[in-house]
Amino acid sequence: IRSYSVLSNDQLRINGVKDVIAVASGKGGVGKSTTAVNLAVALAIKCRLKVGLLDADVYGPSVPTMMNIHQKPEVTRDMKMIPIENYGVKCMSMGFLVDKDAPIVWRGPMVMSALQKMSKEVEWGGLDILVVDMPPGTGDAQLTMSQKLQLSGQPPIFPKGEKKGNGGALIVSTPQDVALIDARRGVRMFSKVQVPILGLIENMSCFKCPHCGEPSFIFGVGGARRTAAEMGLQLVAEIPIEVDIRKGCDEGIPIVVSAPDSVVSKAYCDVAQNV
Ligand code: ADP
Repeated sequence: IRSYSVLSNDQLRINGVKDVIAVASGKGGVGKSTTAVNLAVALAIKCRLKVGLLDADVYGPSVPTMMNIHQKPEVTRDMKMIPIENYGVKCMSMGFLVDKDAPIVWRGPMVMSALQKMSKEVEWGGLDILVVDMPPGTGDAQLTMSQKLQLSGQPPIFPKGEKKGNGGALIVSTPQDVALIDARRGVRMFSKVQVPILGLIENMSCFKCPHCGEPSFIFGVGGARRTAAEMGLQLVAEIPIEVDIRKGCDEGIPIVVSAPDSVVSKAYCDVAQNV
């Protein structure tokens, strides 16, 4: 970890981006991309900010499908990629560059180089906030991203542990123990590299029966709330399992766009307003 901190501030800065929010999870499949997409759209539509969305989940990029973007980015004269905009959010994803059905079989250094390109060689053109859909897990790629993206919006130096800037990491987890154990690892990883944790989002909290309205706690009750309390973190949202959330992801129309007045959309907008 120490070796990462020798990067100069210049190496870390992303041109024209004021703040960066990394949406991360210890495990795959817990709803990290779903959260990143809906949060980005809520920040753009509800908070009227200039928002970018960087899909750094290089092995399983979901942003092309979830944001309904299927063309390839154009390139500027100085060879920077121009992000593609939908729902008011400028997006960049490895999925724009590779064949949809081709497996991405890369070794570590190639992943690092792709992440470097996607973070530095994109013409974001002035953003209030860049939401990053992080690769799942707590390995090298996540550490590199945390450092390269300058997640705090300020040089990442917190002598007395105080938070500077408005960026940081949001950790997504389901209420299930196996997911929460990995989420804790994610929190510790970010803390080690002095990235502020903005809070925990519990996804798939419960399923409300569409017929009788009875909630079923498929993955257990209150797991993220307990973990947040134990770790001194804020629980920023509890998002239920809903067919419309899944549909929105598959059809490329995030629920924040298709049903802006729904309870879930309001929850995403609350997160956007509070991070
Ligand atoms: P991750 O990025 O953590 O791998 P995704 O965001 O890709 O997870 O979510 C996995 C799948 O679960 C997606 O296809 C998405 O449609 C679905 N999903 C995520 N969150 C919810 C939810 N709250 N309700 C219903 N489906 C969800």
